[in-house]
Amino acid sequence: MVFTEADIHARVVELGREISDSYPDGDLLVLGLLKGSFIFVSDLVRAVSRPLQVDFLVVSSYGMETVSSGNVRLVYDPETELEGKHILLVEDIVDTGRTLARVIDLLGERRPKSIEVCALLDKHIRTFLPHRPKFVGFDAPHEFLVGYGLDHAENFRHLPYVASLQ
Ligand code: 5GP
Ligand code: MG
Repeated sequence: MVFTEADIHARVVELGREISDSYPDGDLLVLGLLKGSFIFVSDLVRAVSRPLQVDFLVVSSYGMETVSSGNVRLVYDPETELEGKHILLVEDIVDTGRTLARVIDLLGERRPKSIEVCALLDKHIRTFLPHRPKFVGFDAPHEFLVGYGLDHAENFRHLPYVASLQ
């Protein structure tokens, strides 16, 4: 096991506090990237003590590549207005950051007040992200991880902890 249920709970409570302190004013919209972030988002928003809205994004890579191509399109586009709001994108795990970089470009066109990223896990590879996620749960080992929302072929998302697939 890489991160236990207790590790995750303790860190999520801290992240909630960091997020509450980082946004003293303005409208905050928490945008979870489905499906991987669904459990993290639901725990995280309950640890934040300031008003916020929650919505989700579904992103699909197109092309034939099995590796992230960075060529993304929004399959579910949030109906919530973004203009003038602080957007906090919530991602399960940042690997190359390619997907996130494209999503940030797309959403930036809607004139939010700010866009930041909160990732549960960060592999610290990040070849494509212009800057590191503002909020990170844990630095992750360079292994394939599952659980707490992360899947392998849609399995293991329900595990309350994060483990290496091996
Ligand atoms: P990136 O665009 O940063 O290269 O890829 C990020 C996406 O790849 C994550 O949202 C996640 O879906 C997937 N991913 C990267 N590393 C892992 C991993 O260790 N386990 C799982 N389950 N997915 C991963
Ligand atoms: Mg994902």
